[in-house]
Amino acid sequence: MSPSSPRPIALQHTGGIYLPDLDLWLDPPRPVGRAFVSHAHSDHFARHEFTLCSPVTHAIIDKRYGAITAGASLAPAYGEAVFERGHELRLLPAGHILGSAMLHVTRQEDGATLLYTGDYKLRHAGRPSLPNSGQRTH
Ligand SMILES: [Zn+2]
Repeated sequence: MSPSSPRPIALQHTGGIYLPDLDLWLDPPRPVGRAFVSHAHSDHFARHEFTLCSPVTHAIIDKRYGAITAGASLAPAYGEAVFERGHELRLLPAGHILGSAMLHVTRQEDGATLLYTGDYKLRHAGRPSLPNSGQRTH
């Protein structure tokens, strides 16, 4: 076993965050080919050719904006493994809004990992925030 760490999973920052090995944009606000949408706030969503998101985010976007995508979509449950292009992808709860998810990526050949959090909240929500309560959701 090599004592060195695996090389990082490649990220590009050109008009957004892009994972070239997966051909996947992260929360792009403009239409792209393949995108992960972390949650249903409008600044994280556009109509993409392929969308990866949680089932609840998928339902909210469908209800609010009409068809989620011009092409395909994939909406795995939290923790369910999805395998694409040599990587294992899992959505994890982000606690930001209903259906919000982080994206955990593991490259299968060497175990390198990447966690994209999107917007998240660490403390327990308990109940919805009220105006002027000092709680923020964004
Ligand atoms: Zn948000």
